[in-house]
Amino acid sequence: MKIIMLGAPGAGKGTQAKMIAEKYEIPHISTGDIFRANIKNNTELGKKAKAYMDAGQLVPDELTVALVLDRIKKADCVKGYILDGFPRTIPQADALDSALNDRGEKIEYAINVDVPDEHIIKRMSGRRACSDCGATYHVVYNPTKEEGVCDACHGSLVLRDDDKPETVKKRLEVYHEQTKPLIDHYGAKNVLHTVDGTLDIDVVFAEINKFLGE
Ligand code: ADP
Ligand code: AMP
Repeated sequence: MKIIMLGAPGAGKGTQAKMIAEKYEIPHISTGDIFRANIKNNTELGKKAKAYMDAGQLVPDELTVALVLDRIKKADCVKGYILDGFPRTIPQADALDSALNDRGEKIEYAINVDVPDEHIIKRMSGRRACSDCGATYHVVYNPTKEEGVCDACHGSLVLRDDDKPETVKKRLEVYHEQTKPLIDHYGAKNVLHTVDGTLDIDVVFAEINKFLGE
């Protein structure tokens, strides 16, 4: 089962991807998480990615594509995977489609989590991420059991630097310009499923399972 998640920043891609990955026992591959881990470990890739991420811009395709094409060759991907945050540009989608095509494979589901811009800023200001394991919560819609403490690993929760309202506005612009065209790209391949991402987390998940369970 090969799945990609589409949607604006903060639409709930990561939240749903994690639940799908657990249910269908496939790896959840988030390019944002990979970049953040590289920044934390101060790697060369992390140093290059940081300036783009802090500015709300996309990391260049040449850094991102190689990373993902390498990752999906790993042994844990034989049964499939869920890509969260990739592809984000038409050249990234073309590179992915062509690498899969060479192996006689394809993306089977492109799940578009649809949330209007008006909701996004509110969502992002309440998002909290664990500084140790990267798990994501929301102060109102998906709170931790103990305030400020990760349910999964007891790490401390932080507001991501790029979730500040000024940066979120820039990320939304970038989304409309560079990522939204992927909805038509995957629509034309007949693999697109759009879900209403303004519904409760469990309702969105139930909607997704209706077509994944087919
Ligand atoms: P993305 O991966 O698309 O950037 P996230 O999954 O991190 O988005 O979700 C953004 C924020 O919104 C998080 O704080 C998350 O807990 C919250 N969230 C996710 N889905 C919903 C939902 N259906 N309703 C309300 N809040 C949600
Ligand atoms: P995310 O965690 O998916 O919201 O991603 C956070 C940031 O990482 C984005 O705003 C980009 O700067 C960068 N990023 C993640 N995925 C990609 C990608 N596929 N292409 C370019 N930049 C990316």
